[in-house]
Amino acid sequence: MSATLLDGVAVANQIRAEVAPLAAEFTRRAGRPAGLGIVLVGDDPASDIYVRGKVKAAGEVGVRADLERLPAATTLDELLAVVDRLNRSEVHDAILVQSPLPSALGDAAERRVFDAIRPDKDVDGFHPVNVGRLVQNRATVASGTPSGIIELLERSNIPIAGARAVVIGRSDIVGKPMALLLLHRNATVTICHSRTQDLPAVAREADILVAAIGRPAFVTRAFVKPGATVVDVGINRLSDRSTVEKIFASGAKGRDTFERRGSVVVGDVHPEVAEVAGALTPVPGGVGPLTIAMLLKNTLRAAEERAGRAG
Ligand code: NAP
Repeated sequence: MSATLLDGVAVANQIRAEVAPLAAEFTRRAGRPAGLGIVLVGDDPASDIYVRGKVKAAGEVGVRADLERLPAATTLDELLAVVDRLNRSEVHDAILVQSPLPSALGDAAERRVFDAIRPDKDVDGFHPVNVGRLVQNRATVASGTPSGIIELLERSNIPIAGARAVVIGRSDIVGKPMALLLLHRNATVTICHSRTQDLPAVAREADILVAAIGRPAFVTRAFVKPGATVVDVGINRLSDRSTVEKIFASGAKGRDTFERRGSVVVGDVHPEVAEVAGALTPVPGGVGPLTIAMLLKNTLRAAEERAGRAG
């Protein structure tokens, strides 16, 4: 058996195609486009790629995106001042501060910054007010990655209500909101983490297994009930040949990519899982593109909410 691949690119394109006319309609009504302020601190190359992808995608659907690039030496006060300016801006409906922040800003910086974003402009849903709303199932926006996964499951006709769902990972950004969104759609949800005992046995109970761990190819066939839907959130770049050779058989696509580029991106799910799972998200091309599509959808939603309150 070989798993059906859940095509995140196709679903992301569908979502963008739905957002574009709504964005045009908003612009016509409001006399300005929905606006997203993005803040990037430092020069992390991966963050730079993500942020440029977000700005480009926004332009393509008619959402205004302004990128504020701040040097790595920016202080927390300077960063908070930028957030404050965006909070008060009339043309920005949504604010995104790209994570991770440079470690020089200190351990507590991210929380301080996310807490400082106005809840109604908090497009990622990280502010405690929005986390509370999510817990109570009355969130306007929820973090892009988990809400994109829900869109992918629903549009792929994967039943969620009544399903056993296991989420490996309990981060505030992915694991916890993922578990809540599944719960609110009536899945029976288990959250696992690094202290979970006999993780493969717990994971094997899942009809829907979400891996958000950050460990390359960690989820092997031993974790997967035959026919289960497996969602691979992990993005792990590998440049070490022996690790790549352990994960990808000779002739496999990932191995070819490594030979050509000297590195390859692998998810948290081992390629062998395709032989057991019923449906599987590929990496790349699975969850990643959905995160950006949901950012655009959430920006528009934030803009409409603000305009609704003003009008
Ligand atoms: P994170 O904050 O590092 O959280 C990782 C979680 O995995 C933690 O809860 C941790 O448990 C758990 N974990 C680590 N080792 C484990 C083990 N051996 N057994 C069981 N659980 C283990 O990571 P994150 O931000 O959630 O991201 C997870 C992955 O998704 C990363 O690869 C990231 O790059 C990727 N990601 C992708 C997208 C996308 O758009 N596709 C978006 C966001 C993140 P503890 O809590 O016990 O430490």
